[in-house]
Amino acid sequence: MKCPFCGKEDSKVIDSRPADDGLSIRRRRQCVFCNKRFTTYEKIEIIPLVVIKKDFSRQLYDRRKIESGIFRSINKRPISMEQVSSMIDSIESEIFSYGDREVPSSHIGELVLEHLKALDSVAYIRFASIYQEFDDADTFVELIRKLKGD
Ligand SMILES: [Zn+2]
Repeated sequence: MKCPFCGKEDSKVIDSRPADDGLSIRRRRQCVFCNKRFTTYEKIEIIPLVVIKKDFSRQLYDRRKIESGIFRSINKRPISMEQVSSMIDSIESEIFSYGDREVPSSHIGELVLEHLKALDSVAYIRFASIYQEFDDADTFVELIRKLKGD
């Protein structure tokens, strides 16, 4: 951070505190060359991701929603919290890498299914039955068939 007085790039932080908005950190810095003080603000970069639901309504992306869906499907399965959070991390890095601000909820569901399939077939079936809301038995049979790889 360049000193606004002498232009040198070396300063030390003498005080750090959250700003009133709670979304930024205010830092008092002191230039190590001219000893003058200045303030910088560090802000969280918020990139909102919007999820398009089946009825085309939009909702802000919320990691906890995926998490709770996954937790329901892994109940009593040998899957650790750590596996779940690394699974969600990789799903997030995929959906955030598209650069689109809007992602259909069905797409997120598919990604979760893909990851669960590799991890545990029971959890996979459970998640699918929650999220795809089977209209009829055929859809379910179709899913089982896909799982078996026929
Ligand atoms: Zn300076």
